[in-house]
Amino acid sequence: MKILIMIDMQNDFLTGVLGNGQTAAVVPAVCEKVRRYLAESKAPLIYTMDTHAENYLSTQEGRNLPVTHCIKDSHGWQLDSRLKAITDGHPERAVKIEKGTFGAEGLPECVRYISRKYGGEIEEIELVGVCTDICVISNAMLLKAFFPEILITVDSSCCAGVTPQSHQNALEAMKMCHISVI
Ligand SMILES: [Zn+2]
Repeated sequence: MKILIMIDMQNDFLTGVLGNGQTAAVVPAVCEKVRRYLAESKAPLIYTMDTHAENYLSTQEGRNLPVTHCIKDSHGWQLDSRLKAITDGHPERAVKIEKGTFGAEGLPECVRYISRKYGGEIEEIELVGVCTDICVISNAMLLKAFFPEILITVDSSCCAGVTPQSHQNALEAMKMCHISVI
C-alpha cells in the first residue's frame, strides 16, 4: 500500500503572505496528483494544515518569521479552493492533520492507524506540497526516522520552496538522507 501526503497547500503559502510564483504555480500539478491517487488507490490521502493562533508572533516560529499566517479558520489558513473541492468530495478518504509547527507530531501515529485500519503493510509514503525547504523536508525526515523500512518519496514536480534555490537545496539534502526524489 502506498500513502500520499499533501503538505500545507493553504492559501497563505500559495497566493497569500508567504506565497510566491513557484508555490502558486504548483497547484494544478498537485490537483492532478491527488485526483489520480484517489481514483487509482483505496488508501486515504493525509493532508496537513499549518495552524496558528492569534498569539503567533509571541511563539518561537513567530519570532523567527514575524509574518502572521495560517491563523485557524482565516482565509489564508484554508486549503486552495481547487484542492478543497477534491478533499470535500472524498470526506471518508481525506484525513486532515492540523499542526502548529513544521513537522506534524501526529503524523507517525496517523500512518500507523491507517495501516491498521486498512489492514495493509505500507510500502511507500509519497509527499507533495509546500514549502519544500521547510515543511516538506521536516515531515519527510520525521517519517524517515519513524519508518526506516518504508520508501519515502518526494515528487519534486509537485513541490515548491521559499526560493528556487532553497527548493533545490532541500531536494539535495533529502536525497542525502535516502529519501527518493522523483
Ligand atoms: Zn507556520
